[in-house]
Amino acid sequence: LNRRLAEFGTTIFAEMSALAQTTGAINLGQGFPDTDGPEAVREAAVRALRDGRGNQYPPGPGVPELRTAVAAHQHRHYGLSYDPDTEVLVTAGATEAIAASLLALLEPGDEVVALEPYYDSYAACIAMAGGTRVPVTLRPHTEGGEGTFRLDLDELRAAVTDRTRLLLLNTPHNPTGTVLTREELAAIAELAVERDLLVVTDEVYEHLVFDTAEHIPLATFPGMRERTVTIGSAGKTFSFTGWKVGWITAAPALVTAVRSAKQYLTYVASGPFQYAVAEALALPDSYFSAYREDMHAKRDVLAKGLREAGFGVYRPAGTYFVTTDIRPLGESDGFAFCRALPERAGVVAVPNAVFYDHREEGAPFVRFAFCKRVSVLEEAVDRLKASV
Ligand code: PMP
Ligand code: GLN
Repeated sequence: LNRRLAEFGTTIFAEMSALAQTTGAINLGQGFPDTDGPEAVREAAVRALRDGRGNQYPPGPGVPELRTAVAAHQHRHYGLSYDPDTEVLVTAGATEAIAASLLALLEPGDEVVALEPYYDSYAACIAMAGGTRVPVTLRPHTEGGEGTFRLDLDELRAAVTDRTRLLLLNTPHNPTGTVLTREELAAIAELAVERDLLVVTDEVYEHLVFDTAEHIPLATFPGMRERTVTIGSAGKTFSFTGWKVGWITAAPALVTAVRSAKQYLTYVASGPFQYAVAEALALPDSYFSAYREDMHAKRDVLAKGLREAGFGVYRPAGTYFVTTDIRPLGESDGFAFCRALPERAGVVAVPNAVFYDHREEGAPFVRFAFCKRVSVLEEAVDRLKASV
């Protein structure tokens, strides 16, 4: 393994899901739903397979039906207009969108400012592209008796140097559940314009925002449409994480650049599933609101249960993850806690420290996924109450 990748090892998701398998513990580690997405969308995939649509290499940019549907989705939900032919690119999940964007847009030595904790592939992809990551840490705050993680805009401004090429954002944010506010996004947009930065924004949890939180794509802010690559995922939006269908929307020059990298990574992927996702994106608003309400209810079950079990709980405004603090339990090392938890309590969780460069900042935090059936969440909570 080369020096660029040596520090990364096996992803925590593989490690923890393997532990769930061998111990039979309830897996609230890796973020994938235990209920598949809509029946009609599965049927659409079956039809595509049977009718021979997408069984051979689909077009490099993605099938036209899906590119058109992605553009229509951005317009319907956010009022953003993208040309399906020049401003949309289908990828093998958001994961490839992230990789191809960084490989296409970074020169060796370029600095990338990213919110910490960050989704684990960011650090690895920045490294593969020869870039340098500059983390800006989201810090815990208590507001109205409830914990949240917040961005310090002054720290973000201070992190930008003459070598900064791009900002890598994620809102709603995995693992903290933070949703950047309109004011924060406006300030980020101003900074990007002032310092002439590109922005890659991972918005895969765009439809999972709760309470009064609102997801506002960064591309809607003045000066941002032409400098922003926005990433979406059918895995997250329609609960088909195994299909690996994602996409970017961006200005033509950026899409062309990202496509240049993508064509040598996978070239194309997920042919028949692309047609099914095109149908999914056209589902009525009621699908999106029901999905959000279902996940909202699950969040409340898990957050309340974890609080009762003695964890400090940071209430997520978005995503399907809840970050907890284990210090109220008399613990301080999230790694050790998560490695012991399957045997001790029959539950798998993920230590947030893996998402930090500043490991000590993340040490006491542990992430639980709530994209599971309520009965499963309740069982997990009962086990935790009995054993931690
Ligand atoms: N970005 C974030 C923030 C994620 O949480 C995930 C998935 N867990 C991805 C990207 C990857 O998405 P996909 O499965 O579509 O590759
Ligand atoms: N994004 C999911 C999570 O954060 C997992 C994806 C993966 O296993 N790479 O849990």
